[in-house]
Amino acid sequence: MTPLPEGALAALAHRSQVLLCLDYDGTIAEIVEDPARATPHPDAPSLLRRIAARPDRAALAIVSGREISVLRRFLGIDEGVILVGVHGLQILWPDGTREMNAGASRADLARLRAWVSANVPSGSGFRVEDKEFSIALHYRCAPAETAGRVCDAFAEFVKNNTPALTLSPGKCVIEALPRIAGKGHAVRALRRRFAGFVPVYFGDDLSDEDAFAAIGDEGFSIFVGPERTSAARYRVDSPRDVIRALTELVTAMESHPHPANRA
Ligand SMILES: [Mg+2]
Repeated sequence: MTPLPEGALAALAHRSQVLLCLDYDGTIAEIVEDPARATPHPDAPSLLRRIAARPDRAALAIVSGREISVLRRFLGIDEGVILVGVHGLQILWPDGTREMNAGASRADLARLRAWVSANVPSGSGFRVEDKEFSIALHYRCAPAETAGRVCDAFAEFVKNNTPALTLSPGKCVIEALPRIAGKGHAVRALRRRFAGFVPVYFGDDLSDEDAFAAIGDEGFSIFVGPERTSAARYRVDSPRDVIRALTELVTAMESHPHPANRA
């Protein structure tokens, strides 16, 4: 990965329409101990609003593992924004159209739900996030040894008992979700819808790797965080750098006359 060059996104916004895809946690919100308190970077909502106000220059999608209802609550905006939740299983288009893709996984999710309530010790630092289409086990606050044991058992149960589900590890979280899920699928669907727009994707976690791969060499795949092996072409250090890059992008977009003001 090379550092995202300063001015690269401004130059892109001058010459092309942009399909801008943003992961949420660790990308436009800092990672915090309690995922329920992951508020966006203070500048993010207004920047997103400015980008969403220029559909002539950009399409904007938030692509997250979280549920759409949670993303809406955190961001406080949905006009002009495509919300992709639960790793592509939920999509809410700006015209209000919803897509849900639970597939054949409901019975397996019910089986896993029962296993979790019987086997994850309560009051020991675990948090179970039941997202209807997926189940995530957060272990950031659990003692390391218990976390290792419970997560191994969770993974074992999923592998042996829920054929429609697959495991997706993340930062102090292990998640079981339908095999048909994946940010890569979601990004490919967005690219088909916005053919001709150059894709830009910012993400910080393992679940973003599929999306980086779906962008390939035709756009900007940008990893957020310290150097590591990744399919992304570019890298920035932190959500603060994402905000800086978005500011650069929107400033360039706004230098083009708004279609409503054109003679
Ligand atoms: Mg993330």
